Amino acid sequence: MRKYNLLLALLLISQALLAQSLNDAKKFINFIDANDLNKHLSILASDEYEGRETGKAGQKLAADYLRNQFLDIGLPNLSADGYFQNYNLIEKVLGKRLLEVNQTAFEIAEDFFPVKDQDLIDILSNEVYFVGYGINDAKYNSFAGIDVKGKVVLALAGEPEKEGTYVITGTSEKSLWSNNNKKISEIKKLNPALIILIDPNYQKAVKFYKHRLESSGLKLAYKQKKDTDVPVITASEKLANALLAPNKKSVDKILNKLKSAKVAQKALKLKSTLKVNIEFISQDVSSENVLAFVPGSEKPEEYIFITAHYDHIGASNGEVYNGADDDGSGTVALLEIAQAFMEARKVGKGPKRSIVFMAVSGEEKGLLGSEYYTDHPIVPLDQTVANLNIDMIGRIDDAHKDDTNYVYVIGADKLSSELHIINEKANEIANLKLDYKYNDPKDPNMFYYRSDHYNFAKNNIPIIFYFNGVHEDYHKEGDEVSKIHFPMLAKRTQLVFLTAWELANRENRIVVDKANDFPTK
Ligand SMILES: [Zn+2]
Repeated sequence: MRKYNLLLALLLISQALLAQSLNDAKKFINFIDANDLNKHLSILASDEYEGRETGKAGQKLAADYLRNQFLDIGLPNLSADGYFQNYNLIEKVLGKRLLEVNQTAFEIAEDFFPVKDQDLIDILSNEVYFVGYGINDAKYNSFAGIDVKGKVVLALAGEPEKEGTYVITGTSEKSLWSNNNKKISEIKKLNPALIILIDPNYQKAVKFYKHRLESSGLKLAYKQKKDTDVPVITASEKLANALLAPNKKSVDKILNKLKSAKVAQKALKLKSTLKVNIEFISQDVSSENVLAFVPGSEKPEEYIFITAHYDHIGASNGEVYNGADDDGSGTVALLEIAQAFMEARKVGKGPKRSIVFMAVSGEEKGLLGSEYYTDHPIVPLDQTVANLNIDMIGRIDDAHKDDTNYVYVIGADKLSSELHIINEKANEIANLKLDYKYNDPKDPNMFYYRSDHYNFAKNNIPIIFYFNGVHEDYHKEGDEVSKIHFPMLAKRTQLVFLTAWELANRENRIVVDKANDFPTK
């Protein structure tokens, strides 16, 4: 009983200290206002901004809007270069796309697709070898007695199996050869000129490949290397059958024979001629992160980063994807938090540590803006105390239709034992139900890896990711302002503000004292 009381007393004292600083913050949370959030979001998520696709005019327009808002609020820029951190990207656009089997043309996406956006695949060959499952294993070798160097390799995805027992493992467990990536990387070691992998489920992927044709891939320019890798094409059964036809074979017949066979079939030289000419043309694209900050009054060289991505997925077929929730909601939250801190500063209650607001682009293309930032930080990463990342906080997901007062909190306890406690304490004022479902490293959604905070976390900077979960309009044209729950958006924004307040004003910088159970990829 006594021990319990002592613990309780200690807990109460530490809570009192925390509460004192957070009490000051309470006076400013009402500057975070549902109407203001609505006003900003109605602009940024309007059709005029064309879905804010990275590198496109709509994204640049949004960048200007954000800079002007930071100026209006009175926030100085973090870098001597101004409010923008510019970075260069390479866009890969499909040019030539020819594939012929015995002079019959096949259609890209419909029948085949390059696995990577390689600069050029240019091959004319009558040395095409069908190698069954393409397995190069001590027990089962599809390449016995043949050297495929410089030749075209045609292989089936998967591995032999009889009535639920896999030939290679001898159990109901698949071997690694069922993994296409593993198979491809093993075949590459044999230095063929080209690998064609026959995908039995190709038809299911056609829609995805057609979409890929329309949307170009973006890559960070400074990460581009000359591509000398063995090219790989994934193909439909129809295309494979055309290659096999002059040998009077078909995928169906071969599969029937191979399915349960204990021994790999010998490589078969095909009587077909294959011509491939696929080219991805590189174009330069530029984008920008937008940064501003509230200078700290006592420890200006320690920085709390609050981030949200302001890019979205653009427009296609005349339909604008406005991304009101993703991540218009987080972007306007940044503006309101910045304003609340500046109001506090006006009356002498400015944060002791500096608070940086970074609106990030390139997120939808693979977290590119935040990766660029953490590779080219404006203030040292070791002086970056924490990152609070907001990505989608304006909607209600299906799991919370009945109790809408919630937010998912991800990552808070992974690197610092203090961050999680601070956020929970801040929430005593915000009063949301904190849902930790996605904080579980075993959760298959792996949201921890899917927004900009990840680039901070992989640099050992404690993070929190605030999130409302996915909903039926996620990455769809229905992600509109009219569906945003503004009172909830305001409340969640207030929680981020309160947590940032405590991080900035507490005596000691939070510790980094935990081994992350979300491993770095
Ligand atoms: Zn997002």
